[in-house]
Amino acid sequence: MDHRYESSETLRNKCAACYRQFNKKEHLVEHMRTSYHSVHEPMCGVCKKHCRSFESLREHLIGPLPKAECERIFKERGCDICLSILGSRNDVRAHRESCHPRPNNNGLVYRMANMGIQDELRIDSSRGRVVALTCKMVGGGSDGSLDLCARVCLVDEHERVLFQSYVKPNLPVTNYRYETTGIRPEYLRDAMPLRNVSRKIQEFLCNGEPIWQIRSKGGRSRILVGHGLDHDLKCLEMEYPAIKIRDTAKYPPLMKTSKLSNSLKYLTKAYLGYDIQIGVQHPYEDCVATMKLYMRMKSQYHKKENYSLATDPQNKNNFASWRQNELEMMTPEQLLDFSRSDYYCWCLDSQDY
Ligand SMILES: [Zn+2]
Ligand SMILES: [Zn+2]
Ligand SMILES: [Zn+2]
Ligand SMILES: [Zn+2]
Repeated sequence: MDHRYESSETLRNKCAACYRQFNKKEHLVEHMRTSYHSVHEPMCGVCKKHCRSFESLREHLIGPLPKAECERIFKERGCDICLSILGSRNDVRAHRESCHPRPNNNGLVYRMANMGIQDELRIDSSRGRVVALTCKMVGGGSDGSLDLCARVCLVDEHERVLFQSYVKPNLPVTNYRYETTGIRPEYLRDAMPLRNVSRKIQEFLCNGEPIWQIRSKGGRSRILVGHGLDHDLKCLEMEYPAIKIRDTAKYPPLMKTSKLSNSLKYLTKAYLGYDIQIGVQHPYEDCVATMKLYMRMKSQYHKKENYSLATDPQNKNNFASWRQNELEMMTPEQLLDFSRSDYYCWCLDSQDY
């Protein structure tokens, strides 16, 4: 077999996004049908390879088996927090100042939190299109393993506390989990009942819009940010439409390559560069971390596409409407051009408002 022919053939069958090579064009087409590559995927600043998650981009740049050339340049002028490549070493130094957020150590907020102040939620429609919610759980049930929400916190985009309160659970508490929650029985005795807390939060999120009327775009209702919100909402016995939820535990670019969730503690260390959840855990700290992660993901600059989701009606049939032989005639770049993401990239939130 002629080897020169073989290599140009493989080149023609190389995915323009993840650089996987296929022996036959039909295999590349099949790969494109199922991989949902798009401009929203984390991308290597050196070789422009698309990665499914920041974790796989990290592996590509840092290891254990990095791409040698990309690793070399990343070591020289890459940012280990946002994984971008800067122009020079000096640029990296200047960039790190802005990229490396300081944990919010507002002592006053913490003290007020401990005294249970600010459990009045002021409904002020001017404050926040986006809010982060965190619950802290104590244990119920005979073995204390049932999660009962005992404390909540809600912050706005500027990390200001909108609401925080201890919560009186519906069921008896059998384990206060004091080492991590810092919660004592007397804090909950006269706390706001769960039902009232949930209602207050839901009213604030819906912001005057009936819950069944909430749509993904427009409207008055707020975007809800959190980590593992399914569980938090379940413990609050509350519902909120998925289209308004931005969950750092379920956002594909922030997940493990195994498609499992990362812990908030890990994400904060890896993508914000600081530690949380040491000793007694304060829900405010988690709220701030999830909000910072959300803002970082939202502020990413991605090329604007028409109809950016694979599920948009205009894209639904992209690969189906072309005939197989037409697809096989296209270059890898052309195939990538009309491939769309199968998840909602949070950068799109910046385009709506
Ligand atoms: Zn690919
Ligand atoms: Zn995007
Ligand atoms: Zn690379
Ligand atoms: Zn950075």
